[in-house]
Amino acid sequence: MQTKPLPCDLLVTAGILATQNEARDILRQAALAVTGGHIAAVGSAADLVRAFAPAETLDLSGCLVLPGLVNTHTHAAMTLFRGLCDDAPLAVWLTEHIWPAEAKLTSEAVRAGTELACAEMLASGTTCFLDAYLYVDAIADAVDTAGLRAVLCQGVFDIANANFKTTDAALASASRLADRLAGHDRLRPAIFPHAVYTCSAETLARCADFARDRGLLLSTHAAETARENDDCQKTNGRRVIPYLKDLGLLGPQTLLAHGVALDAADIETVAVSGACVAHCPKSNMKLASGIAPVQALRAAGVTVGLGTDGAASNNALNLFSEMNVAALLQKVATGDPTALGAGAALDMATRDGAAALGWPELGRLTVGGPADLCALDLSRPQLCPAFDPVSDAVYAASGGEVVCTMVAGKVLYRDGEFTGFDYPELRRRMCAMTRSLKRRS
Ligand SMILES: [Zn+2]
Repeated sequence: MQTKPLPCDLLVTAGILATQNEARDILRQAALAVTGGHIAAVGSAADLVRAFAPAETLDLSGCLVLPGLVNTHTHAAMTLFRGLCDDAPLAVWLTEHIWPAEAKLTSEAVRAGTELACAEMLASGTTCFLDAYLYVDAIADAVDTAGLRAVLCQGVFDIANANFKTTDAALASASRLADRLAGHDRLRPAIFPHAVYTCSAETLARCADFARDRGLLLSTHAAETARENDDCQKTNGRRVIPYLKDLGLLGPQTLLAHGVALDAADIETVAVSGACVAHCPKSNMKLASGIAPVQALRAAGVTVGLGTDGAASNNALNLFSEMNVAALLQKVATGDPTALGAGAALDMATRDGAAALGWPELGRLTVGGPADLCALDLSRPQLCPAFDPVSDAVYAASGGEVVCTMVAGKVLYRDGEFTGFDYPELRRRMCAMTRSLKRRS
């Protein structure tokens, strides 16, 4: 007996589909049915074409389809400062170049910088990111319009800045942000005390209380360098991780950015607390901060995601490049070519990153989950002969192969065109903005 085809919004056919489900199934000549922004079915193209009567179809049969990538640590609007200062130590970079430039920021500039970051991320397959910066309302407007998902953090630090003169004002803004984004399907609020060296013990503890009271994620820069531990030891009598633990900042809803300078006791403390880590290999390399002990963290059971950090210290927001560097760097660091394989690197950029953001339904293509994906053009020479698409994604792809990026069943990027905003107009606005920022500095 012939059953009547089921209606769905969209049927996507894929040459190869890396589901990143529990079994990490890789399907060839596959398809996804999408309804209401969620995946209604995953299976063989032949079966799904028979079973569904879609309102629309999307032919990605010449593509490798992956879950949309998840960037667990960035400062999107820092695209404004890309190339402003390179090849300098972290302290010099931050205090002599970035902070003075940030003092001149406006909400308008932050909005444009964030839109540019969204464009760059979409064009390299990223569909969700954690952002921590100033003028969070402008950021929320930009990301909402662009159509990506994001965890948007109110940045908090005890230094008067362009956005806030006081810590109280930053915390009040965090509260307004949480109210504004309550119930939003793509944007989630969070809080980001900048670091132990820019926030007092009182400020850190207040941020932890705020996150707990509102049930939100707390993220912070932690143990990015050995010097940060030395300074923390001198000022607070403890290394960074025990200091954060004593102040109540470590828990399952905590995401530590960097985690480079961690000893065995720190790793144990992080693992026991349930906190996650955002590994930013390229930023750590560029600022010569060191190599995060990713293998040891993962072995201890810590969930580790990948982050690009801001474009001023990377200088790209491209997770394909981060996957590649992360996998290679652990082999160099451990002297073991089996360290952090391609599958582990892809997990970090997808399902583990999603889990680290407390959004575990992302980073995988499974029935009931959101239809967030990216597609790489399999006709590119570097993706041939496609023996192992996961290996290709990590070791051969650059991100430039991405031809389609979708969030919640909506195509936001296709063949070089963006649907969420007028990209040529944005470039003109960005150029004018950076000229005026430069003039004022
Ligand atoms: Zn950062």
